[in-house]
Amino acid sequence: MSSITTILASQQATSAWQEDFYKHLHAHPELSFQEAETARLVAEKLQAFGYEVHGGIGKTGVVGILRNGAGATLLARADMDALPVTEATGLPYASTVQATDAGGNTVGVSHACGHDVHVTCLLGAAELLAGHRDAWSGTYIVLFQPAEEVAGGAKAMVDDGLARLIPKPDVALAQHVLAFPAGRLGTRIGAVLSAGDSIHITLHGKGAHGSMPQSSVDPVVLAALIVVRLQTIVSRETQPGEFGVLTIGSNRAGSKSNIIADRADLLLNLRTYDRNVRSRIIAAIERMVNAECVASGSPQPPEFAYYDQYPLTENDAEVTAVVTAAFQQHFGVDWVFDLGRLTASEDFSHLPDALGTPYTFWGLGGTDPELYAQAAKAGRIAEDIPVNHSKYYAPVLEPTLDHGTQAMVVAAMAWLGHEALKPVSR
Ligand code: ZN
Ligand code: ZN
Repeated sequence: MSSITTILASQQATSAWQEDFYKHLHAHPELSFQEAETARLVAEKLQAFGYEVHGGIGKTGVVGILRNGAGATLLARADMDALPVTEATGLPYASTVQATDAGGNTVGVSHACGHDVHVTCLLGAAELLAGHRDAWSGTYIVLFQPAEEVAGGAKAMVDDGLARLIPKPDVALAQHVLAFPAGRLGTRIGAVLSAGDSIHITLHGKGAHGSMPQSSVDPVVLAALIVVRLQTIVSRETQPGEFGVLTIGSNRAGSKSNIIADRADLLLNLRTYDRNVRSRIIAAIERMVNAECVASGSPQPPEFAYYDQYPLTENDAEVTAVVTAAFQQHFGVDWVFDLGRLTASEDFSHLPDALGTPYTFWGLGGTDPELYAQAAKAGRIAEDIPVNHSKYYAPVLEPTLDHGTQAMVVAAMAWLGHEALKPVSR
């Protein structure tokens, strides 16, 4: 019997609590940096499994370490936070939770991104590995991070001294449940999730009565010209075939028809797969905005505030090849697909980047396969399949939870198992 088979022989006992645990998490979501109860439940489980547990890292982050003799050190990560989205799935365990967000607003909260799946699966893998220490050796680190949705949790854990707390991992792994057929696993070498940047641009005009434009520098007109001008960065300045998305998600100025405002605020979002493309686009944004402000006679230069910055997720070739082969061998080739590049962003890579560790991040399908097949047949996947962050998004329980748990075990065992492929050395 292979060591993976030995470990998964007891998966039924793990599945038995996972379903209830998942439904509980789903019904009790917590916003970014407010994951206190989720963190408490995670720490409680890890303690019961026999892990060395560290809590309160980066506010609510939890790390469990299981030292099991000589061998590779592996880090597996799950994110814990939910979104300010009022759930509309109609599921019996749907969230009805409301909470106060960082801005003081009361918002509906739900696990619309499926992070409750990640927590449940990683805890399952943690139990399975702890229960079969004879089947592997090395050090297994499970990391539960806060606040992925505000791009702050991974960084907060790094800033809070994560590197001093854990042995340096040889490999880091993470998974995300996505709108693909349930239980399927999508892997890819190289850039897999885009870098994301949000930019708040403040434009300064000169206020006046609406009937006296000669006394004003109209920030509404200035902002409008900038909005149009910025459309040329991707279409005219970026090499065809290179990827960049630049969206102006908010354009606000003024309050009344007969008052010319004295400022305008633009909120931009940028997605890229390449560091050079990213810096060229950012330079172009600043150049054009500055020039338009000069052209309009703006009384003071514009201000640029960068926030919600997500790093590029760029999967290591060797680690990804090993994990893909392990998945194909365990699940069968039909269950493993090419994830492609997603325009979404993640803060996971902050962790391995800070630790100097190669990593891979894969997708776990969570959508009812029949629903998916129907939509695919009708050419209506984009219209009919709810995706992450939608108020209708919730994965089907199985095989999502089982495969997500197995995927974490199978990938870890590629480095920790007795039949392990050689550990990555850099
Ligand atoms: Zn999300
Ligand atoms: Zn997410």
